[in-house]
Amino acid sequence: MNSNNITNAPYPKLIVDLKKLRHNIDVVLENCNQANISVCGAIKGFNGLPKAVEEFAQAGFSQLGTSRMRTIKELTMLGLNAKYLLLRVPMLSEADDVVKYADISLNSDLQVIRALNDAAAKAGTSHEVILMADLGDLREGFWDQEELASCAEVIETELDHIVLKGVGTNLGCYGSIKPTVAKMNDLISIAELVETRISRKLDIISGGATSSYVLVLDQSMPERINHLRIGEGILNNYDLPEIWGLDIENMYQDVFTFQAEVIEVRNKPSHPVGEICIDSFGRKPEYKDRGIRKRALLAAGKLDFTLDDKIFPKLEGAAVIGSSSDHMILDIEDCKEEVKVGDIVTFHISYPSMMYLSNDPYVNVIYK
Ligand SMILES: *Cc1c(COP(=O)(O)O)cnc(C)c1O
Repeated sequence: MNSNNITNAPYPKLIVDLKKLRHNIDVVLENCNQANISVCGAIKGFNGLPKAVEEFAQAGFSQLGTSRMRTIKELTMLGLNAKYLLLRVPMLSEADDVVKYADISLNSDLQVIRALNDAAAKAGTSHEVILMADLGDLREGFWDQEELASCAEVIETELDHIVLKGVGTNLGCYGSIKPTVAKMNDLISIAELVETRISRKLDIISGGATSSYVLVLDQSMPERINHLRIGEGILNNYDLPEIWGLDIENMYQDVFTFQAEVIEVRNKPSHPVGEICIDSFGRKPEYKDRGIRKRALLAAGKLDFTLDDKIFPKLEGAAVIGSSSDHMILDIEDCKEEVKVGDIVTFHISYPSMMYLSNDPYVNVIYK
Protein backbone atom coordinates (compact mmCIF):
# COMPACT_ATOMS: atom_id res chain seq x y z
CA MET A 1 0.00 0.00 0.00
CA ASN A 2 1.08 3.50 -0.61
CA SER A 3 1.42 5.08 2.78
CA ASN A 4 3.10 8.21 1.57
CA ASN A 5 2.43 10.01 4.83
CA ILE A 6 4.24 13.23 4.16
CA THR A 7 2.94 15.15 7.12
CA ASN A 8 0.65 14.44 10.00
CA ALA A 9 -2.15 16.47 8.45
CA PRO A 10 -5.44 14.56 8.38
CA TYR A 11 -6.73 12.79 5.29
CA PRO A 12 -7.97 13.26 2.64
CA LYS A 13 -5.02 14.98 1.00
CA LEU A 14 -4.28 16.59 -2.31
CA ILE A 15 -0.58 16.10 -3.02
CA VAL A 16 1.06 18.67 -5.29
CA ASP A 17 4.48 17.74 -6.62
CA LEU A 18 6.12 21.10 -7.31
CA LYS A 19 9.17 19.65 -9.07
CA LYS A 20 7.01 17.74 -11.50
CA LEU A 21 4.88 20.84 -12.01
CA ARG A 22 7.94 22.90 -12.85
CA HIS A 23 9.14 20.22 -15.24
CA ASN A 24 5.82 20.23 -17.11
CA ILE A 25 5.79 24.03 -17.21
CA ASP A 26 9.28 24.08 -18.70
CA VAL A 27 8.42 21.54 -21.39
CA VAL A 28 5.35 23.50 -22.53
CA LEU A 29 7.18 26.84 -22.46
CA GLU A 30 10.07 25.41 -24.45
CA ASN A 31 7.77 23.98 -27.13
CA CYS A 32 5.86 27.25 -27.41
CA ASN A 33 9.01 29.39 -27.42
CA GLN A 34 10.30 27.40 -30.35
CA ALA A 35 7.12 28.29 -32.22
CA ASN A 36 7.44 31.98 -31.18
CA ILE A 37 4.38 31.70 -28.99
CA SER A 38 4.18 33.38 -25.61
CA VAL A 39 2.06 31.68 -23.00
CA CYS A 40 -0.38 32.75 -20.34
CA GLY A 41 -0.12 30.11 -17.61
CA ALA A 42 -3.66 29.26 -16.51
CA ILE A 43 -3.80 28.73 -12.75
CA LYS A 44 -7.56 28.36 -12.33
CA GLY A 45 -7.54 24.55 -12.55
CA PHE A 46 -6.02 24.43 -9.06
CA ASN A 47 -7.73 27.57 -7.78
CA GLY A 48 -4.45 29.46 -7.58
CA LEU A 49 -2.92 27.48 -4.70
CA PRO A 50 -0.12 29.91 -3.79
CA LYS A 51 2.86 27.54 -3.72
CA ALA A 52 2.00 26.21 -7.14
CA VAL A 53 1.46 29.76 -8.39
CA GLU A 54 5.01 30.57 -7.23
CA GLU A 55 6.32 27.92 -9.63
CA PHE A 56 4.31 29.56 -12.42
CA ALA A 57 5.50 33.03 -11.44
CA GLN A 58 9.16 32.01 -11.68
CA ALA A 59 8.90 30.22 -14.99
CA GLY A 60 8.67 32.79 -17.79
CA PHE A 61 4.99 33.01 -18.71
CA SER A 62 3.91 36.26 -20.32
CA GLN A 63 0.93 36.38 -17.92
CA LEU A 64 -0.75 34.23 -15.28
CA GLY A 65 -4.43 33.67 -16.01
CA THR A 66 -7.47 32.83 -13.97
CA SER A 67 -11.23 33.31 -14.30
CA ARG A 68 -12.01 34.64 -10.87
CA MET A 69 -11.08 38.13 -9.74
CA ARG A 70 -11.04 36.87 -6.17
CA THR A 71 -8.07 34.59 -6.92
CA ILE A 72 -6.07 37.44 -8.44
CA LYS A 73 -6.93 39.70 -5.52
CA GLU A 74 -5.95 37.11 -2.91
CA LEU A 75 -2.66 36.28 -4.62
CA THR A 76 -1.81 39.98 -4.85
CA MET A 77 -2.57 40.40 -1.14
CA LEU A 78 -0.15 37.52 -0.47
CA GLY A 79 2.53 39.48 -2.28
CA LEU A 80 2.52 37.16 -5.30
CA ASN A 81 2.97 39.77 -7.96
CA ALA A 82 2.74 38.75 -11.58
CA LYS A 83 1.16 40.05 -14.73
CA TYR A 84 -2.39 38.74 -14.25
CA LEU A 85 -4.78 38.06 -17.09
CA LEU A 86 -8.48 37.72 -16.28
CA LEU A 87 -9.65 34.79 -18.40
CA ARG A 88 -13.39 35.20 -17.92
CA VAL A 89 -14.86 38.29 -19.52
CA PRO A 90 -15.35 40.76 -16.66
CA MET A 91 -18.62 41.36 -14.89
CA LEU A 92 -19.77 44.95 -15.21
CA SER A 93 -19.90 45.02 -11.41
CA GLU A 94 -16.21 44.15 -10.97
CA ALA A 95 -14.68 46.80 -13.25
CA ASP A 96 -12.93 48.60 -10.38
CA ASP A 97 -11.20 45.43 -9.17
CA VAL A 98 -10.31 44.35 -12.71
CA VAL A 99 -8.32 47.50 -13.44
CA LYS A 100 -6.80 47.50 -9.98
CA TYR A 101 -5.63 43.86 -9.79
CA ALA A 102 -5.52 42.50 -13.34
CA ASP A 103 -3.20 43.88 -16.00
CA ILE A 104 -5.08 42.49 -18.95
CA SER A 105 -8.45 40.86 -19.57
CA LEU A 106 -10.33 39.01 -22.29
CA ASN A 107 -13.40 40.97 -23.40
CA SER A 108 -16.50 40.66 -25.54
CA ASP A 109 -18.73 43.60 -24.62
CA LEU A 110 -18.24 47.28 -25.38
CA GLN A 111 -20.34 48.39 -22.42
CA VAL A 112 -18.02 46.49 -20.07
CA ILE A 113 -14.94 47.87 -21.82
CA ARG A 114 -16.31 51.42 -21.39
CA ALA A 115 -16.77 50.67 -17.68
CA LEU A 116 -13.18 49.42 -17.49
CA ASN A 117 -12.07 52.65 -19.17
CA ASP A 118 -13.98 54.75 -16.63
CA ALA A 119 -12.63 52.68 -13.73
CA ALA A 120 -9.07 53.01 -15.04
CA ALA A 121 -9.50 56.76 -15.53
CA LYS A 122 -10.75 57.08 -11.97
CA ALA A 123 -7.81 55.04 -10.65
CA GLY A 124 -5.31 56.94 -12.80
CA THR A 125 -4.18 53.79 -14.58
CA SER A 126 -4.68 51.97 -17.85
CA HIS A 127 -5.86 48.47 -18.66
CA GLU A 128 -5.07 46.11 -21.54
CA VAL A 129 -7.71 44.10 -23.39
CA ILE A 130 -7.89 41.23 -25.84
CA LEU A 131 -11.11 41.09 -27.88
CA MET A 132 -12.56 37.61 -28.10
CA ALA A 133 -13.97 36.23 -31.33
CA ASP A 134 -16.42 33.32 -31.12
CA LEU A 135 -15.44 30.92 -33.89
CA GLY A 136 -18.21 28.43 -33.23
CA ASP A 137 -17.66 27.08 -29.73
CA LEU A 138 -20.51 29.37 -28.60
CA ARG A 139 -19.20 30.50 -25.24
CA GLU A 140 -17.76 34.03 -25.01
CA GLY A 141 -16.82 36.26 -27.89
CA PHE A 142 -18.15 38.51 -30.65
CA TRP A 143 -20.14 36.52 -33.18
CA ASP A 144 -20.16 39.30 -35.72
CA GLN A 145 -16.70 40.28 -37.03
CA GLU A 146 -17.92 43.74 -37.99
CA GLU A 147 -19.06 44.36 -34.41
CA LEU A 148 -15.66 43.22 -33.12
CA ALA A 149 -13.83 45.50 -35.56
CA SER A 150 -15.92 48.54 -34.70
CA CYS A 151 -15.44 47.85 -30.98
CA ALA A 152 -11.68 47.82 -31.68
CA GLU A 153 -12.02 51.21 -33.41
CA VAL A 154 -13.91 52.68 -30.47
CA ILE A 155 -11.20 51.51 -28.08
CA GLU A 156 -8.48 52.87 -30.30
CA THR A 157 -10.01 56.27 -30.89
CA GLU A 158 -12.16 57.03 -27.83
CA LEU A 159 -11.01 55.08 -24.79
CA ASP A 160 -7.83 56.68 -23.47
CA HIS A 161 -7.35 54.27 -20.60
CA ILE A 162 -7.77 51.03 -22.53
CA VAL A 163 -4.97 49.53 -24.60
CA LEU A 164 -6.10 47.14 -27.32
CA LYS A 165 -3.47 44.39 -27.24
CA GLY A 166 -5.02 41.93 -29.62
CA VAL A 167 -7.66 39.39 -30.46
CA GLY A 168 -8.24 35.87 -29.22
CA THR A 169 -10.57 32.92 -29.31
CA ASN A 170 -11.61 30.03 -27.17
CA LEU A 171 -12.48 26.57 -28.48
CA GLY A 172 -13.21 23.13 -27.06
CA CYS A 173 -15.18 24.38 -24.06
CA TYR A 174 -18.97 24.62 -24.47
CA GLY A 175 -19.39 23.60 -28.06
CA SER A 176 -16.62 20.97 -28.05
CA ILE A 177 -15.21 22.52 -31.22
CA LYS A 178 -11.77 21.29 -32.24
CA PRO A 179 -9.08 23.90 -32.85
CA THR A 180 -7.88 23.40 -36.40
CA VAL A 181 -5.57 25.27 -38.76
CA ALA A 182 -8.70 26.62 -40.49
CA LYS A 183 -10.07 28.04 -37.22
CA MET A 184 -6.68 29.63 -36.48
CA ASN A 185 -6.68 31.19 -39.96
CA ASP A 186 -10.18 32.56 -39.31
CA LEU A 187 -8.82 34.25 -36.20
CA ILE A 188 -5.88 35.66 -38.14
CA SER A 189 -8.25 37.19 -40.72
CA ILE A 190 -10.20 38.82 -37.92
CA ALA A 191 -6.92 40.21 -36.55
CA GLU A 192 -6.09 41.55 -40.01
CA LEU A 193 -9.50 43.15 -40.35
CA VAL A 194 -8.91 44.94 -37.04
CA GLU A 195 -5.38 45.93 -38.10
CA THR A 196 -6.75 47.53 -41.26
CA ARG A 197 -9.29 49.48 -39.24
CA ILE A 198 -6.88 50.80 -36.63
CA SER A 199 -3.91 51.12 -39.02
CA ARG A 200 -1.44 49.28 -36.86
CA LYS A 201 -0.36 45.73 -36.03
CA LEU A 202 -1.79 43.94 -33.02
CA ASP A 203 0.66 42.56 -30.45
CA ILE A 204 -1.31 39.47 -29.54
CA ILE A 205 -3.23 36.87 -31.51
CA SER A 206 -4.28 34.39 -28.85
CA GLY A 207 -5.22 31.06 -30.40
CA GLY A 208 -6.81 29.33 -27.45
CA ALA A 209 -6.03 26.91 -24.65
CA THR A 210 -4.53 23.44 -24.21
CA SER A 211 -6.63 22.11 -27.07
CA SER A 212 -4.90 24.57 -29.44
CA TYR A 213 -1.46 23.66 -28.05
CA VAL A 214 -1.89 20.37 -29.94
CA LEU A 215 -1.26 22.36 -33.15
CA VAL A 216 2.05 23.59 -31.74
CA LEU A 217 3.11 20.03 -31.00
CA ASP A 218 2.38 18.82 -34.50
CA GLN A 219 4.00 21.98 -35.90
CA SER A 220 0.95 23.08 -37.86
CA MET A 221 0.17 26.26 -35.91
CA PRO A 222 -0.06 29.19 -38.38
CA GLU A 223 2.77 31.67 -37.83
CA ARG A 224 0.75 34.69 -36.82
CA ILE A 225 -0.73 32.94 -33.77
CA ASN A 226 1.70 34.16 -31.12
CA HIS A 227 -0.08 33.55 -27.82
CA LEU A 228 -1.84 30.69 -26.04
CA ARG A 229 -3.42 30.32 -22.60
CA ILE A 230 -2.49 26.94 -21.18
CA GLY A 231 -3.49 25.23 -17.94
CA GLU A 232 -4.65 21.66 -18.29
CA GLY A 233 -1.83 20.57 -20.59
CA ILE A 234 0.67 21.54 -17.90
CA LEU A 235 -1.23 20.59 -14.78
CA ASN A 236 -3.21 17.57 -15.49
CA ASN A 237 -2.74 15.71 -18.67
CA TYR A 238 -3.90 12.38 -17.27
CA ASP A 239 -6.60 11.82 -19.89
CA LEU A 240 -5.40 14.26 -22.56
CA PRO A 241 -3.62 11.83 -24.87
CA GLU A 242 -7.01 10.17 -25.43
CA ILE A 243 -9.04 13.37 -25.54
CA TRP A 244 -6.85 15.63 -27.68
CA GLY A 245 -4.19 13.28 -28.99
CA LEU A 246 -1.75 15.33 -26.93
CA ASP A 247 1.81 14.09 -27.02
CA ILE A 248 2.80 13.96 -23.39
CA GLU A 249 6.07 12.17 -23.71
CA ASN A 250 8.45 13.80 -21.21
CA MET A 251 5.51 15.08 -19.16
CA TYR A 252 4.42 13.97 -15.71
CA GLN A 253 0.81 12.87 -15.43
CA ASP A 254 0.80 12.96 -11.65
CA VAL A 255 1.60 16.53 -10.64
CA PHE A 256 -1.61 16.34 -8.58
CA THR A 257 -2.64 13.16 -6.77
CA PHE A 258 -5.32 12.48 -4.18
CA GLN A 259 -5.14 10.32 -1.05
CA ALA A 260 -7.94 8.96 1.10
CA GLU A 261 -8.06 6.56 4.05
CA VAL A 262 -9.76 3.19 4.22
CA ILE A 263 -12.40 2.99 6.98
CA GLU A 264 -14.01 -0.40 6.30
CA VAL A 265 -13.09 -3.54 4.36
CA ARG A 266 -15.76 -6.25 3.87
CA ASN A 267 -17.18 -8.80 1.50
CA LYS A 268 -20.66 -7.70 0.45
CA PRO A 269 -23.11 -8.40 -2.34
CA SER A 270 -22.58 -6.27 -5.44
CA HIS A 271 -26.33 -5.81 -5.93
CA PRO A 272 -28.24 -3.84 -3.25
CA VAL A 273 -30.60 -5.97 -1.17
CA GLY A 274 -34.25 -4.87 -0.91
CA GLU A 275 -36.56 -2.63 -2.92
CA ILE A 276 -34.51 -0.18 -5.07
CA CYS A 277 -35.64 3.42 -4.69
CA ILE A 278 -33.16 6.36 -5.18
CA ASP A 279 -29.56 7.02 -4.08
CA SER A 280 -28.33 9.90 -1.91
CA PHE A 281 -28.28 12.23 -4.93
CA GLY A 282 -31.84 11.39 -5.98
CA ARG A 283 -30.76 9.22 -8.88
CA LYS A 284 -31.65 5.68 -9.91
CA PRO A 285 -28.37 3.99 -10.78
CA GLU A 286 -28.14 0.57 -12.38
CA TYR A 287 -26.46 -2.10 -10.27
CA LYS A 288 -24.88 -5.14 -11.82
CA ASP A 289 -25.00 -8.35 -9.87
CA ARG A 290 -21.47 -9.72 -9.78
CA GLY A 291 -22.01 -11.82 -6.67
CA ILE A 292 -20.18 -11.26 -3.42
CA ARG A 293 -17.23 -8.88 -3.84
CA LYS A 294 -14.55 -7.52 -1.54
CA ARG A 295 -14.93 -3.76 -1.08
CA ALA A 296 -13.13 -0.97 0.71
CA LEU A 297 -14.96 2.05 2.06
CA LEU A 298 -12.96 5.30 2.01
CA ALA A 299 -13.39 8.51 3.98
CA ALA A 300 -13.89 10.95 1.10
CA GLY A 301 -16.87 11.62 -1.10
CA LYS A 302 -18.62 13.71 -3.69
CA LEU A 303 -18.31 16.75 -1.44
CA ASP A 304 -14.58 16.50 -2.17
CA PHE A 305 -14.17 15.23 -5.72
CA THR A 306 -17.75 15.57 -7.07
CA LEU A 307 -17.28 13.16 -9.99
CA ASP A 308 -16.35 9.64 -8.98
CA ASP A 309 -15.62 8.61 -12.56
CA LYS A 310 -12.84 11.21 -12.87
CA ILE A 311 -10.58 9.78 -10.17
CA PHE A 312 -8.61 6.59 -10.64
CA PRO A 313 -7.01 4.44 -7.93
CA LYS A 314 -3.32 3.70 -8.47
CA LEU A 315 -3.90 0.46 -6.59
CA GLU A 316 -3.82 -2.28 -9.21
CA GLY A 317 -7.13 -4.13 -9.65
CA ALA A 318 -9.16 -1.55 -7.70
CA ALA A 319 -12.11 0.33 -9.22
CA VAL A 320 -14.38 3.07 -7.91
CA ILE A 321 -17.91 1.67 -7.92
CA GLY A 322 -19.74 4.54 -6.30
CA SER A 323 -19.80 7.33 -3.80
CA SER A 324 -22.06 9.50 -1.69
CA SER A 325 -21.24 12.92 -0.24
CA ASP A 326 -18.69 11.64 2.30
CA HIS A 327 -17.96 8.02 1.33
CA MET A 328 -16.35 6.29 -1.59
CA ILE A 329 -16.68 2.59 -2.36
CA LEU A 330 -13.83 0.75 -4.06
CA ASP A 331 -14.15 -2.74 -5.48
CA ILE A 332 -10.93 -4.48 -4.39
CA GLU A 333 -11.83 -8.07 -5.20
CA ASP A 334 -9.18 -8.22 -7.93
CA CYS A 335 -6.40 -6.48 -5.98
CA LYS A 336 -3.31 -8.50 -5.36
CA GLU A 337 -2.26 -6.31 -2.47
CA GLU A 338 -4.05 -6.70 0.81
CA VAL A 339 -6.09 -3.63 1.77
CA LYS A 340 -6.93 -2.98 5.43
CA VAL A 341 -8.57 -0.35 7.56
CA GLY A 342 -6.19 2.58 8.05
CA ASP A 343 -4.47 2.12 4.68
CA ILE A 344 -4.12 5.09 2.37
CA VAL A 345 -5.18 4.76 -1.25
CA THR A 346 -3.62 7.11 -3.81
CA PHE A 347 -5.53 8.27 -6.90
CA HIS A 348 -4.62 9.73 -10.23
CA ILE A 349 -7.02 12.57 -10.86
CA SER A 350 -8.23 14.39 -13.92
CA TYR A 351 -8.79 18.12 -14.44
CA PRO A 352 -12.29 18.39 -12.90
CA SER A 353 -11.26 16.49 -9.75
CA MET A 354 -8.19 18.71 -9.39
CA MET A 355 -10.46 21.74 -9.67
CA TYR A 356 -12.91 20.50 -7.02
CA LEU A 357 -10.30 19.10 -4.62
CA SER A 358 -8.14 22.23 -4.64
CA ASN A 359 -11.19 24.29 -3.69
CA ASP A 360 -12.26 22.02 -0.83
CA PRO A 361 -11.64 23.14 2.76
CA TYR A 362 -11.90 19.49 3.94
CA VAL A 363 -8.91 18.44 1.85
CA ASN A 364 -5.40 19.13 3.09
CA VAL A 365 -3.07 20.33 0.38
CA ILE A 366 0.43 18.88 0.77
CA TYR A 367 3.34 20.11 -1.34
CA LYS A 368 6.31 17.96 -2.09
C1 LIG B 1 -9.58 28.06 -18.65
C2 LIG B 1 -9.25 28.88 -19.81
C3 LIG B 1 -8.05 28.64 -20.49
C4 LIG B 1 -7.10 27.53 -20.12
O1 LIG B 1 -7.66 26.31 -20.49
P1 LIG B 1 -6.89 24.92 -20.41
O2 LIG B 1 -7.76 23.96 -21.11
O3 LIG B 1 -6.74 24.61 -18.94
O4 LIG B 1 -5.57 25.07 -21.04
C5 LIG B 1 -7.77 29.46 -21.57
N1 LIG B 1 -8.60 30.44 -21.96
C6 LIG B 1 -9.76 30.68 -21.33
C7 LIG B 1 -10.63 31.79 -21.81
C8 LIG B 1 -10.12 29.92 -20.24
O5 LIG B 1 -11.28 30.18 -19.61
